[in-house]
Amino acid sequence: MAKPVTVQPRTAENPFQFKIPENIPTDLKCPSCGANIGPTTRKCEYCGSILQPVIDLPEPVHLARLQVGSGVRIRLPNGERDFRVQGRALIGELWQASRGPNVPWTFTGNLFAGFALSGVAQAYLLNWQNRFYLFEARQSIDDQHIQRYFLPYARAFGQGNQMNRVEFDYEGRRWQIVDIGRSQVIFTEGEGLHVQRGAEARFIYAQSRETHLLVEDFRSGGGAQDTLWKGIQVQEQNILY
Ligand SMILES: [Zn+2]
Repeated sequence: MAKPVTVQPRTAENPFQFKIPENIPTDLKCPSCGANIGPTTRKCEYCGSILQPVIDLPEPVHLARLQVGSGVRIRLPNGERDFRVQGRALIGELWQASRGPNVPWTFTGNLFAGFALSGVAQAYLLNWQNRFYLFEARQSIDDQHIQRYFLPYARAFGQGNQMNRVEFDYEGRRWQIVDIGRSQVIFTEGEGLHVQRGAEARFIYAQSRETHLLVEDFRSGGGAQDTLWKGIQVQEQNILY
């Protein structure tokens, strides 16, 4: 019988690093047309000039062209919703070579994007791995809340190498854990985001029918408040910009 093929991630001995300058300049202008541009802008939205970004970060895995100031239309089962991107966060995925308190967490090199959206209501559009979420309900929670309602189930999910079905009750619904892990915000720009650069979180994704939740448990003092998001999953091809 053939062995299952496994993809070996980067080893912890040679961890991936992101190079970010201490001070990120603002008020940047396109040298060709003078339009406002961001520090990671590679192509001017207005004149199409190819630019050398001030901050040379890898592009996020998905939604790389969606920028602060852009309009975005999201197709939902019950119609379309129009938003404008107010803020953008680039979030690095962390991993551990093996489980244990003394094994360091290092970057995988994957960078995902989250967007603070303004529209009829505020929303947070987030890509993680190959999943896309539109979160519209945001609630501040504390460590006690996380420990009581979520952490035991996240632990059980982790102990089963994220392969087992782990369910729990919360707010009168039955939820199934989808994903757990750790991430760090590498870069932010614009306004309206709930996170700052450097914020490191343990996260838990869970699903109850069409409703999805995300628990973000930020490292204390890390510049972000523990947050519970609720929303829906959207398909990448239904995010139009
Ligand atoms: Zn330009």
